[in-house]
Amino acid sequence: MSSNGNKLELPASIVIRDLALKIEKSPIDLIKKLMTNGVMATINQTVDFDTAAIVVGEYGFEAILETVEEEAGKVEVGEVPLWRQMIAGENNAFLKTRPPVITILGHVDHGKTSLLDAIRSTEVAAGEAGGITQHIGAYQVEKKGRLITFLDTPGHAAFTQMRARGAQGADIVVLVVAADDGVMPQTREAIAHAKAARVPLMVALNKVDKANANPDRVKQQLAELELVPDEWGGSTMVIPVSAKQKQGIDDLLEGILLVADSNDIKANPNGKVIGTVIEAELDKSKGVLATLLVQNGTLEAGDIVVAGTAYGKLRAITDYKGKPIKKAGPSTPVAVMGLSGMPSAGDIFEVVDSEKEARNIVSERTEAAKTLSQTKKKVSLEDLFANVQAGEAKGLNLIIKADVQGSLDPIMGELNKLGEGEIGLHILHAETGNISNNDVMLAAASKAIVIGFNVQADVDGRRLAEKEGVDIRLYEIIYRMTEDIEKALKGMLAPKLVEKVVGRAQVLAAFSASKFGKVAGCKVTDGELRRGARVRLFRGADMIYEGDLSSLRHEKEDVKEIRQGYECGVGFKSFNDIEAGDQLVCYIVENS
Ligand code: GDP
Repeated sequence: MSSNGNKLELPASIVIRDLALKIEKSPIDLIKKLMTNGVMATINQTVDFDTAAIVVGEYGFEAILETVEEEAGKVEVGEVPLWRQMIAGENNAFLKTRPPVITILGHVDHGKTSLLDAIRSTEVAAGEAGGITQHIGAYQVEKKGRLITFLDTPGHAAFTQMRARGAQGADIVVLVVAADDGVMPQTREAIAHAKAARVPLMVALNKVDKANANPDRVKQQLAELELVPDEWGGSTMVIPVSAKQKQGIDDLLEGILLVADSNDIKANPNGKVIGTVIEAELDKSKGVLATLLVQNGTLEAGDIVVAGTAYGKLRAITDYKGKPIKKAGPSTPVAVMGLSGMPSAGDIFEVVDSEKEARNIVSERTEAAKTLSQTKKKVSLEDLFANVQAGEAKGLNLIIKADVQGSLDPIMGELNKLGEGEIGLHILHAETGNISNNDVMLAAASKAIVIGFNVQADVDGRRLAEKEGVDIRLYEIIYRMTEDIEKALKGMLAPKLVEKVVGRAQVLAAFSASKFGKVAGCKVTDGELRRGARVRLFRGADMIYEGDLSSLRHEKEDVKEIRQGYECGVGFKSFNDIEAGDQLVCYIVENS
């Protein structure tokens, strides 16, 4: 790295602290600049070249890329869903490309529903007889002879719910951003979710038909969020569409196929059947109707399925159009009947050999669920330290909600200062507004704590937090918040224990006292001896005993301590080999 005039060579990625050093600015200043650009980063975090270039640009530097290598990815949180693990465990030779499963996320009113409808209706126009009437929470369309599966649930909620259960079902997130409105809070939230779930993301730039649409502004905003559009040399596909006028839909579908191709979306159609429950409802006459997304293997009518704590022999399988089918391979959404109870959206389902096996699994799960709810691992400031000690948490993940941007800035500044220590603070999401269900979902999925500053938690959010064991902390004064976190961080730091010698004594004589066994008659030569402290007994250069100083007497009286110059009787727990001339060192262990 070198600088030349106001030209500044930067690598493909750089830690904020180093970047600050390079331009000789305070890291806090830099973090604030990043924040105003919508990038949340702590001092120890890395930003990519593009982000760094924008920020140093604000200080008058022209950034030049030092190497061509791109930074691979940022903080990854969240568990790998079970079905993905299953597929990963399959023999490569049996894996076949399967249709990509898409979920559409974005800010409210940016056009998620309209886009899902537009995609669906293009397909109808393309020759589906009778149209599609059923809404089962997912559908498929065909493009270039290939299928694409869309999750058609109320986007965000379903996505987060699924992810919170470690069963996130989508392969690609299509982020809808309205060209007239740009990046909004839920846009950022959606990006955070996609990142945490490690799902590739592409952008549908919607409402380009509107007179006040400003696609370039949106692209700029996306670039600032590390989603550099491909036409600008980045790796995020941004496709202009109008859901209303059904423009750009074909391009979007082609784009999806391209992203799918570069992501190796596969499964074993002949492997063990596993998938995710998309939704379930109770029909008075038909019983439980569930929508399942098959993710590995092939589901067949007559199979015995366990889904969460429900099970049953599938009586009928229909596709998303309501047409009865016999088999459904990977990435196929189907509606099924025959389950004994209601599974939850996001539950994993699997096919088993017999009803008996199904019953056993269900009773095991019911038991496990009971124990889990009793011993649910909460992430709270109070028990975080223990989690770190147990190796279950490496740092503190935070989601910050504040009343206004004006409070968010100083909060972030303070937190970033705190995060400079040994244990990192990771701010996963910071936004204005009340604490919602979605914030709690993200917190549950990422083992984070939600901090509210001058805001409330919505009723739904509170309920969910209780259920999921998410710690929500509300503050009105910044320093109270930083104080609490600082304490937790201190607790999190393993206390460094040091020995401090408090006194020395010489053994003058050893004598027997029936109650204690042998007792050392000593004279304190230095400092003091303390009952309950630790002692080492030396004979010449050899240490012959180390342990607790269990009894201390002065003239037949029990005493707590005895000072230099005095004589005393000292007893050690189960140790009797004492001789005149031995040296005693008394020490304590304390936090540094
Ligand atoms: P959602 O909340 O993200 O599901 O958004 P909706 O699909 O409900 O759309 C919100 C509003 O934006 C509705 O009034 C739609 O008619 C309108 N809308 C959606 N897509 C477009 C578009 O491409 N162009 C225009 N002009 N309006 C759109």
